Amino acid sequence: MIPRVTATVDLGCIQHNLQVVRGMAPRSRVMAAVKADAYGHGAVPVARALEAAGVDALAVACLEEAMELRQAHVVTPIALLEGVISGEEAAQAVYERLQIVVHDHWQLALLEALPDSAQLSLWFKLDSGMHRLGFPLADVPKLVEVLRRHPNWKLEGWMTHLACADEPENDFTPLQIARFDAALQGIPGPRSIANSAGIIAWPSARRDWVRPGLALYGCSPLPARSAADLDLRPAMALDSRLIAVREFAAGERVGYGGAYVCPERMPIGVVAVGYADGIHRAFANGTPMVVAGCRVPLAGRVSMDMITVDLRAVPQAAVGDPVRLWGPGLAAEEVAAYAGTLAYELFCGLTQRVHYRHL
Ligand code: PLP
Repeated sequence: MIPRVTATVDLGCIQHNLQVVRGMAPRSRVMAAVKADAYGHGAVPVARALEAAGVDALAVACLEEAMELRQAHVVTPIALLEGVISGEEAAQAVYERLQIVVHDHWQLALLEALPDSAQLSLWFKLDSGMHRLGFPLADVPKLVEVLRRHPNWKLEGWMTHLACADEPENDFTPLQIARFDAALQGIPGPRSIANSAGIIAWPSARRDWVRPGLALYGCSPLPARSAADLDLRPAMALDSRLIAVREFAAGERVGYGGAYVCPERMPIGVVAVGYADGIHRAFANGTPMVVAGCRVPLAGRVSMDMITVDLRAVPQAAVGDPVRLWGPGLAAEEVAAYAGTLAYELFCGLTQRVHYRHL
């Protein structure tokens, strides 16, 4: 059976991108973000590839994601970025030797109530201005006091998250870094600040640990820099094929709402992929894809199972020809912009109907 839509994930590219990140932050240890099924790339194969390449730690959102990796015999340290939400989860996290990112006092209360927390290892997450998760900076002395009360607990480090790291001109990033440093002045423990954009654009954010996600998957987090320019290799190619090629006269309308009007007599291709596969309905007319090595534009609305494409640039295109939605030769970052979104969301939005192939 020929798969309709295939996401081909080249794990060698992810390993290469890890080395690129290491080159940018040579004094930092790397915690690779593999949450959300490794940004839709397949958590288990990606984690195994990163482990084989010597990554220092992995980061997932929650216990369930960590357990998937542990059950697949991934032994690299794993941090739970959202921490734990119950005493039961806390006990399991400690048992599995997961690193718990603690971001609030209610989580500390859960940990302090554990009957056995001798093996507990934790990060403290501080809110330096993102105002999503994290202790207020003024709470640092209280957290130091908690550590004094629990000499068995292992402090992995102090982390914060940058809100605007992808905007190299935005002076909110240096402000966040300065606040974080000031709050921790004289306090021991490793530091971690930078996500992919922080690593690339803000050298002063490269501390004891860096936490790349997007860059490992081969995308640039900065609008002004391409992945190729950064030597990042796109790890995923999303491909489908033409299932119909039709010829229409000028003025004929294509698809729901007749949203595309043929400007002349022209071939329209129908590609077997739609929003039920993860191709957002927000994709606009003109969104590029590649047919027979040639970029061609989306023509009309995205349907559940199909999209239509203007084939004037490839009149020789025929039923069965492969169609690349993104991947090498067509950056997911660029495609995402046509739907007013980011490559992160394209990757995470792929559905169960997509067939995965890991190289
Ligand atoms: N660190 C934290 C706390 C995150 O939430 C994320 C992802 O959202 C990352 C690191 C990795 O970010 P990026 O994929 O932008 O490198």
